[in-house]
Amino acid sequence: MNRGVTSRPWDIAVIGGGIVGLSAALNVIQLYPKTRVAVLEKETEVGLHQTGHNSGVIHSGVYYRPGSQKARFCVSGVQMLKSYCHEKGIEYDECGKVIVATDESELPRLEELRRRGRANGVDGLEMIGPERLAEIEPHVRGVKALRLPKTAVVDYRRVAHAYAEDIQESGGEILTGRRLRRVGRNGGGVELDTGGETIEAKHVINCAGLYADRVARMMGADLDVRIVPFRGEYYTLRPESRGLVKGMIYPTPDPRFPFLGVHYTRGINGEVEAGPNAVLAWSREGYRKTVVNARDAIGTFAYVGFWRMTLRTWRVGLAEMRRSLVKSVFVKDLRKLLPEIRSEDLAPGGAGVRAQAVSRQGALLDDFCIEESRGAIHVLNAPSPGATSSLSIGRHIAERAGKSFGLKG
Ligand SMILES: Cc1cc2nc3c(=O)[nH]c(=O)nc-3n(C[C@H](O)[C@H](O)[C@H](O)COP(=O)(O)OP(=O)(O)OC[C@H]3O[C@@H](n4cnc5c(N)ncnc54)[C@H](O)[C@@H]3O)c2cc1C
Repeated sequence: MNRGVTSRPWDIAVIGGGIVGLSAALNVIQLYPKTRVAVLEKETEVGLHQTGHNSGVIHSGVYYRPGSQKARFCVSGVQMLKSYCHEKGIEYDECGKVIVATDESELPRLEELRRRGRANGVDGLEMIGPERLAEIEPHVRGVKALRLPKTAVVDYRRVAHAYAEDIQESGGEILTGRRLRRVGRNGGGVELDTGGETIEAKHVINCAGLYADRVARMMGADLDVRIVPFRGEYYTLRPESRGLVKGMIYPTPDPRFPFLGVHYTRGINGEVEAGPNAVLAWSREGYRKTVVNARDAIGTFAYVGFWRMTLRTWRVGLAEMRRSLVKSVFVKDLRKLLPEIRSEDLAPGGAGVRAQAVSRQGALLDDFCIEESRGAIHVLNAPSPGATSSLSIGRHIAERAGKSFGLKG
């Protein structure tokens, strides 16, 4: 890895070596091979944050409003990702998913998902009754379910490492251990201060995930959003209980809070996770309840958008906190889908922190959000299915970079 001030400026510095930043860098190199690209990552390796702390699901695309960026990027991204995994010999498991309606009141919402799935062009959708559901997931109880046979699981950290290798083999660089601290302007370009080193670049692509808003402000962007971190906590099924789950079992989501609702996922390593919930994190990288970062917490509480959001969602927030603190509440919710599950079947699992962009008006941004400021493109909201969609988001960013930065093939 290079140390010291880089003699010749990079054409593009990508901030953040998560799956989105790496894909953006790779796509720029593939579309514009003459472009010199470096990825700056503050950790000692890539893919350690959202990319390495998620459910590992290659989503199919039924949840998203037709025409939204999530719908478009997810459906095209699935094909690109699966082909990439084939090419690189990265294992993924098409174990399939059922989205279950546990009572009649959920049926209109389940029907709406089928409609969305069809509109989005999702393959192999099937509405099934209790008998067929019992064949696929014998321990699940439901009145109807939407079956998504192509939904798969993969290790996204492994995918991120493969993108990083491809970048390096194509002449790009991955500069780990470089935390961007300050940005200065230098003629037409920027000077990126990483503490003890200044890296020069003509343009920036900001994919800093949980810190994307801070990096955008360093670049002088005038933003209407701020990242509010939400921790998602998981339990893991003890080995002797894993047989209760064959693939992926999801509840019918509440359209007002589509990212809520605990589910079961059989991972690529055979482990079964149950979760996640969504509780406010006191630190942007707060993977445990006890981790507090004063700057992050004060930043959240000083933000008017946070309070406007809380006014609207406090009931749901309290329910999620209760589920986080009281295992029996978590288990009760899990039992709606799988009545046989008991507290003894569950051991504490991992956690992830979602970078949720919240507007000043208090709205939780649902769709991907990519904005531009002078010399920079900022990915300000890349929630799930961001990993599934990584290659198509990366392609979209590279095309925008081509136009906005005047890149030449
Ligand atoms: C709990 C959870 C479950 C999820 N489940 C799924 C799923 O099943 N399927 C799916 O498709 N998606 C899922 N997602 C979403 C998916 O993980 C994200 O969309 C995706 O990982 C976003 O990637 P990213 O590169 O934008 O962010 P990240 O992976 O967070 O990467 C950002 C990188 O920027 C670096 N960085 C930050 N600040 C700086 C700085 N100042 N200088 C240098 N580097 C910096 C960080 O260290 C980090 O490596 C889930 C997310 C969570 C949290």
